[in-house]
Amino acid sequence: MTALPYGGTLVNRVLSDAARREILAGIDDRKTIAIDTQGALDAEKIAIGAFSPLTGFMGEADYSGVLARSRLKNGLTWTIPIILAPRIAENPGLGDIHVGDSPVLLYHGEPIAVLHVEEKFPFDKTEFARRVYGTTEDAHPDVKKLRNAGDTIFSGPIDLINRVSGADELTPEETRKEFDRRGWETVVAFQTRNPPHVAHEYIQRCALEQVDGLFIHPVVGELKKDDFPAEAVIESYQYLVDHYYPKSRVFLAPLAISMRYAGPRAAVFLAIIRKNYGCTHFIVGRDIAGVGNYYDPYGAHALFRNLDLGIEAMLFRESYYCRKCRSMVTEKTCGHPESDHSRVSMTQIRKMIVAGEQPPIEVMRPELADLLVKYRPYLEAGLK
Ligand SMILES: [Zn+2]
Repeated sequence: MTALPYGGTLVNRVLSDAARREILAGIDDRKTIAIDTQGALDAEKIAIGAFSPLTGFMGEADYSGVLARSRLKNGLTWTIPIILAPRIAENPGLGDIHVGDSPVLLYHGEPIAVLHVEEKFPFDKTEFARRVYGTTEDAHPDVKKLRNAGDTIFSGPIDLINRVSGADELTPEETRKEFDRRGWETVVAFQTRNPPHVAHEYIQRCALEQVDGLFIHPVVGELKKDDFPAEAVIESYQYLVDHYYPKSRVFLAPLAISMRYAGPRAAVFLAIIRKNYGCTHFIVGRDIAGVGNYYDPYGAHALFRNLDLGIEAMLFRESYYCRKCRSMVTEKTCGHPESDHSRVSMTQIRKMIVAGEQPPIEVMRPELADLLVKYRPYLEAGLK
């Protein structure tokens, strides 16, 4: 028995084959809205139930509730607005789309979903940036991205015509079946957008001691330019799962979402998603979903202590190797000074790989570092 979906019911807004064919047959007569990657991935995640209980893009009551109180209008905690504010430049006919219309959402010209427009309201981007990201600075990647958004939010339920992500991305229904098949009653999710650091492995093992299974669910989809490419993350985790972890206890699948670097707020959103995928526990490490120095690295820990999302947060301090203890430790478990610690951040590891240096063995497994060398040109470009 996996965890109940958030809000109690797993949403399914994927059209049946017959309904899909009917829409595609009459598509030339429909109004259209061109959407960006975030819009397409959000539509897909809504439709497959990853964002349950959302059935579409948020209306004004949900949107303002999330901004002001981190709550949907039904009272459930929700921290990241899921909205559609289409770009004006790519949508000259946007003004002709009215409440009651059901335009088709196009991504790179391909029909993705039907939006049943229930509301249109102005989008205050400054307010959004301030409330969600705590800053209006362009140096924040999500704030910068907001510049491209339109000035009007279109909301309403959606029906999915076509998937955006590859077949390797499982739906919540599929992961739930997989957990059941494995007989896992308790499953801890690990959120990541990095290849496995030894410190990550340590935390995963600690967490797995407490539950039946570990679900490694790296974010692919839309990331910031200095993150590792998704293929590097998946490939290195696949290696770890194949060569180190017991197959019966660890399951790996990608999650294609548009990453929101909103620190603690994003951490709550990421936990809710994992509840929908059937997880009972969620690992919250240091500076989860953070960027730069915008967020308190342990702000998410404080937030989760005061929330009841129906998924249990497993809180971990930053871990590193201690030469005196001769093991992985945290500030909670080791009393030695920093000079005894081997502490290398993921940013430093990226730089070492670009420079052709081998990260220390207690920081990254050498075979993983070797495997990442081929992503050097990509990492180099991202560091610029
Ligand atoms: Zn120590």
